[in-house]
Amino acid sequence: MKPPNIKAKDFLDYFFPIRCLVCQEITNQENTLCMKCSSKLKFSQAHLNFQENELTELFHGRIRLDRAYFHLRNDSEGMAKKLIHQIKYNSNFELIDLLGKSVKEKLKSEFDHSWILPVPLNPKKEKQRGYNQSEKIAQSIFQKDQILNNLVKRELHTKSQTGFGKFQRWSNMENAFQLNEEILNEIGENDSLTIVDDVVTTGSTVEAIFVELKKCKPNLNFSLFTLLKA
Ligand SMILES: [Zn+2]
Repeated sequence: MKPPNIKAKDFLDYFFPIRCLVCQEITNQENTLCMKCSSKLKFSQAHLNFQENELTELFHGRIRLDRAYFHLRNDSEGMAKKLIHQIKYNSNFELIDLLGKSVKEKLKSEFDHSWILPVPLNPKKEKQRGYNQSEKIAQSIFQKDQILNNLVKRELHTKSQTGFGKFQRWSNMENAFQLNEEILNEIGENDSLTIVDDVVTTGSTVEAIFVELKKCKPNLNFSLFTLLKA
């Protein structure tokens, strides 16, 4: 008698089904999103013009941005926000890697000669979460030796921003960041520096960091990268 024809793959599918990285529905490909989730995402066209797009526009009159890129824009069903939630609170590193790959295809070599600065988290928050999502995003896209990990430190006393209007957010931000002079000295006067954040809404956090850096290095060329322009 012949043994039943059970393939190893069927066996694995039964006990360890492959699931969508966002909604957890069973899907047929590993480390990806199901059709339903991926069809809801709205990708930006910011790679067509890094110098002038909706993100550089947001900072108009505030900080002169050399280049800016955002990967996703808001969609009607909140899929991009779900994705960010997975990255921020669920340690979904597979999802970060997946997004990193699709970002790299769009960026090509655009930010290759720039320092990369992930927005720091409040140290208390980072300890609770176990990681800084902006740092993880940066690591999935850029080279290790581009990334500046301890250049900017967030002050411990920064209050939560929820519930603040745009103006109040700003004053709450002032002096919220400290710079590490030793690392700052390694950066050339005319170098390029790109801030990496998971989400940019009003832009007040990145603006506060740019302002601090500009005080010490007025000729730096600033750029911005974010996964979602909300
Ligand atoms: Zn899904």
